[in-house]
Amino acid sequence: MTGNDVGCFERITGGDGNDKTDSETKCLIERDNFVIDSCPDSSTLKINGDNDNMSPKVNGKVNGSLKTNGNINNTGRLDSTPPRRYDPTQEVIFPPELKVSDDLDRQTLMFQGPRVTYWRPTSFTHLVTLKHHHPHAKIIVGNTEVGVEVRFKNQLYRVLINPSKVPELTSVVVQGSGVVFGASVTLTAVYDVLRQQVKTQPEHKTRTFSAILEMLNWFAGKQIRNVASLGGNIMTSSPISDLNPILLAGGASLNFTSLQGGERRVVMDDKFFTGYRRNAVRPTEVLVSVHVPFTCQEEHIQSYKQSRRRDDDIAIVNAAMKVRMIPHTTTVHHLSLVFGGMAATTVIAPNTMKELVGCSWDDSLLPKATQLLLEDLPLDPSAPGGMVEYRQALTLSFFFKFYLSVRRWLSECVPAQVDPLTEDQLTAIRLYHRPATSTSQTFQQVPEDQKEHDLVGRPVVHTSAYKQTTGEAVYVDDLPRLENELHAALVISSRAHAKILSIDETHALELEGVEAFFCARDLPGEMNVTGVATMDDQVFAKEKVECVGQVVGVVVARDHARARQAASLVRICYQDLSPPIITIEDAIKEESWWGPWTIRRGSMEDGFNMATNTLEGEMRIGGQEHFYMETNSHIAVPKGEDGELEMFSSTQNPSGTQQLVAKALGLQANRVVVRVKRLGGGFGGKETRTSVVSVPVAVAAARLNRPVRIWLERHEDTLVTGGRHPFLCRWKVGFTPDGRLTALQAHIYVNAGCTLDLSTFLVQKALFTFDNAYNIQNMCVTGYACKTNLPSNTAFRGFGAPQAVMFIEDIISQVAAFLKMDPVQIQERNMYQAGNKTIVGYRLDHCTITRCWRQVMDTSLVHVLKASVQKFNRENTYRKQGLAVTPAQFGIAFERFFNQAGALVHIYTDGSILLTHGGIEMGQGLHTKMIQIASRVLGVSAENIYLSETATDKVPNTTATAASVSTDLLGMAVMKACNELVSRLQPYVNKDPAGTWKDWVNAAYFDQVSLSATGFYKNPCIIDFDFETMTGRPFNYYAAGAAVTKVEVDCLTGDHTILRTDIVMDVGNSLNPAVDIGQVEGAFVQGTGLVTMEELCYSPEGVLLTRGPGAYKIPGFQDIPCEFHVSLLKDSPNPQAVFSSKGVGEPPLLLAASVFQSIKAAVGAARQDHHLDPVFRLDSPATAERIRLACQDPLIHKVKLPTHKTTKPWSVTV
Ligand SMILES: Cc1cc2nc3c(=O)[nH]c(=O)nc-3n(C[C@H](O)[C@H](O)[C@H](O)COP(=O)(O)OP(=O)(O)OC[C@H]3O[C@@H](n4cnc5c(N)ncnc54)[C@H](O)[C@@H]3O)c2cc1C
Repeated sequence: MTGNDVGCFERITGGDGNDKTDSETKCLIERDNFVIDSCPDSSTLKINGDNDNMSPKVNGKVNGSLKTNGNINNTGRLDSTPPRRYDPTQEVIFPPELKVSDDLDRQTLMFQGPRVTYWRPTSFTHLVTLKHHHPHAKIIVGNTEVGVEVRFKNQLYRVLINPSKVPELTSVVVQGSGVVFGASVTLTAVYDVLRQQVKTQPEHKTRTFSAILEMLNWFAGKQIRNVASLGGNIMTSSPISDLNPILLAGGASLNFTSLQGGERRVVMDDKFFTGYRRNAVRPTEVLVSVHVPFTCQEEHIQSYKQSRRRDDDIAIVNAAMKVRMIPHTTTVHHLSLVFGGMAATTVIAPNTMKELVGCSWDDSLLPKATQLLLEDLPLDPSAPGGMVEYRQALTLSFFFKFYLSVRRWLSECVPAQVDPLTEDQLTAIRLYHRPATSTSQTFQQVPEDQKEHDLVGRPVVHTSAYKQTTGEAVYVDDLPRLENELHAALVISSRAHAKILSIDETHALELEGVEAFFCARDLPGEMNVTGVATMDDQVFAKEKVECVGQVVGVVVARDHARARQAASLVRICYQDLSPPIITIEDAIKEESWWGPWTIRRGSMEDGFNMATNTLEGEMRIGGQEHFYMETNSHIAVPKGEDGELEMFSSTQNPSGTQQLVAKALGLQANRVVVRVKRLGGGFGGKETRTSVVSVPVAVAAARLNRPVRIWLERHEDTLVTGGRHPFLCRWKVGFTPDGRLTALQAHIYVNAGCTLDLSTFLVQKALFTFDNAYNIQNMCVTGYACKTNLPSNTAFRGFGAPQAVMFIEDIISQVAAFLKMDPVQIQERNMYQAGNKTIVGYRLDHCTITRCWRQVMDTSLVHVLKASVQKFNRENTYRKQGLAVTPAQFGIAFERFFNQAGALVHIYTDGSILLTHGGIEMGQGLHTKMIQIASRVLGVSAENIYLSETATDKVPNTTATAASVSTDLLGMAVMKACNELVSRLQPYVNKDPAGTWKDWVNAAYFDQVSLSATGFYKNPCIIDFDFETMTGRPFNYYAAGAAVTKVEVDCLTGDHTILRTDIVMDVGNSLNPAVDIGQVEGAFVQGTGLVTMEELCYSPEGVLLTRGPGAYKIPGFQDIPCEFHVSLLKDSPNPQAVFSSKGVGEPPLLLAASVFQSIKAAVGAARQDHHLDPVFRLDSPATAERIRLACQDPLIHKVKLPTHKTTKPWSVTV
């Protein structure tokens, strides 16, 4: 993606059933190939914003006619200039003037440090001589493998040799027999060469090349392929190497050279790999080149890869299969079946390969091959990586695809002997191809007579957008180093439940540059006690540890690397306590929980009596890692007197940080100032859990009286700070034959981890949301916050509501499956209407859920989509499509006393305004909206308004920025402060109506009028819910939305593609449609990650195994809907919030339930073909593994797992 595709507001005209009125604007962008759809419509929507702070351009596109602005022409008419096609020659290049001479590139280099010597020879002889003298030296090319070993596996290679300037290793030679690649040739170069060969050589010669090309599309990302080498992939000898299976199947050979042994040619076969990441190469040998042979007429080869995510992910299983036929027959002459991910090395299926020789390639071959493959590729139930059944199933699925693909090829080679494949079979082997993504965004424009300066309702650009795009935006760790500054690293526990016998920091302190170590010994009594609602946590674990990742101490050193090195040298002796409680089931067994809390209405007895049928079930939803871009970063700066301390913190909760830091230091809060400029994302993960990092750093800084900085590595942040709570739901529902739900009983259990944190409120939010959009009169839901020995889980966008919506939507789909009805009928039969009361007793006077529902059904042409899905499913066996419509209602408010906010506005005598409020900007556009509000109230243009930071000395006692409520609360506070200033200035406006803003400000100043005002807002309407009396008013209002999603599932691999999503979201009168639509799209995609691919794996001992982007996958570009249409509901003012707007941060995430349900519908269609029960369980996330296993086709039944009850699994579901 480039800045070009950020967004341009265009109108789609005519013909698509989506015509809008003049007051609506719509934009269509095709992203992947950067084609902007041509726009035949006329006129312009233009503004000029020369305010750098808030230039009201909509689309990030600075040049040309697509610049939109919002303040001038409100005719709703658009620029008639056709959008320009993407022109790759206009990409930013590296400026030639800045290129330095390449003289150095031709020279041999050697760097020597205290621990490592690095060589870069330029001649082949020098290279082999070096390797001769340093047999244990590591050769590095792209460093993409060695770098990981050094950084994450603590490997130390004392001699490194980089051969990237040795011509013999970088050349490519096309020979009569194939292509010879130098071992250091990058994968990008391999791709280019092979593509050229495929274009120019006869097709039959380049079949291996095509298989490699297909695989390279899914090999890592472009950045890695640009530096990673072919030789590096082979020599790493990883069992999940993507290229090794193809090279083996394709008959590649390798040329090695050593100084004494000379040249040696090795054919890549199953003897080449000798163990996990080991091969038959001698220590003094250098891999010089790789010969990849041409294929012949009688050969056919295919490669396969299945991973958690399509883009930039390593394989779960990969394979390459090549067959050679006896000429003009369907008889197998030779077969190569090579697999990755099935053992400690790349392996072949020896017996299958042998036994199938001489067989005819027809249906009789399949059962034999399947049986043989299972015998050839056994997996132990505790095999590293888990997914044992799925991995075995994949080997069969890949072979089945290969079988069909060979049949198709034979049908062309020997048509008299082999029939062409059916359409269904062709679809089964279709290679994944994603169309260019197209999106549309529809919103209502501001009234034509709205004043020019007034930015409320206009799609203005986020105030930091350009700075963030260019990298100029400042985050905590961008702040310049301070004099005397030190760096901190956390010492964390490696046991889930153990007594601390001793802590020995001697070795750490012996390291040069290490200054100090602090632990519980340094924080006596109450100073070490911390927590959120309940003080049940410790700054440093004192006598025992309760999870892996608990902070035990902090090391302070001269730099980040030294601090981390020292932290790893702190020795902690443990004595294990009772077996840790890791899973929800463990907790239920031990009755280890906080709560429970029960919400009920009506009578369960009556409800179940009214029902003609009941269903019971269980469903699980996994946790989620926040994966914000900026990991926890904090700088604590002692001010030198009276204990004063300034904290620069990546927190959503500055006042919370201030309080906990002050407490740990034994100070009053008035000595601690917490400052936050912006966060690189928070999503709830920086609401309370940042204190486990910031407080230790503050302690270190205060004790040493020196500034201390910390930033966490990604894997550390993921481990220490917790994430979204995993949920388990056990439910029973009663219903009538026409699908009316008469009773619903449920127990929800959340894995809270080892401290309570915000879990009470989270469980309650889940209970309050369990009705979602449905008027179920008899309901009883009980929630438990299970105490386990995992890091404490915490707030995450949606805060329990996404899980509640997932559960109720799943229950509805189960009822629909049972009644053989369309879920839409059940949803509509039970949906809330205006005037109904929700489960918390809130009367829905402004009920918009049905409007969103109807509109999304209309604009998506759901009946057409449904017909197309049904047709597809009738015609296809191996791929299925699914469609789901999901409504979502989300109550907006904090717990009672949190519903307050403050603002501080200063006007300076030059007319400029400094706006401060208690909220945190974390990418969600809060500051942008506050400036818009101030522009309206003060009547000045945004260029005069600046928002610098959030700080506890400007606005005290702030509520954390969370719960989708910040704009509502802070917007009112800003409005009040601005109103106060307006009223103070009014006399001067009256006196001089023709004057300017600056004139009035100066007049007031000279009249000794204060030009600074605070604004305070509290929402008096919120009353905490009382679980005794079932009364209260926990929400200010409901946000609502609805989504239609269509997916396609590959039943053989479990892969899925979101073909289309349409969303209609009620955000009231949008304060900023550009920001709001961004929130809708972002939240939806984050929710999609939650319900499809983001899977946290824990070892049975409670160690988080998925700690970084290598193992934990969030959605990539290939995972967003191919077609993505977002509309904001028209004419929907909300009387409960600032300028009739609504909160938007969290509610759209709930709509990702439509992705889950559409996947489930597709799986249901596959199961229908096999006459299986339409009511079935599918847990979330719907990973490829779960989808594949749920499809339950005959291949799956062949996979039989050895059932050793005693075997310890690689990971457990928590
Ligand atoms: C983010 C990421 C994503 C990745 N995705 C994938 C993926 O999708 N599929 C996949 O298969 N791999 C993947 N990898 C692994 C890695 O990128 C590949 O194995 C890559 O080809 C290694 O090449 P390199 O040049 O970076 O190797 P290096 O790290 O430089 O070296 C790797 C090994 O090869 C040895 N070596 C290199 N050249 C020679 C030589 N001439 N003679 C003897 N030994 C030599 C080195 O000593 C070292 O042991 C990924 C890695 C990362 C970091």
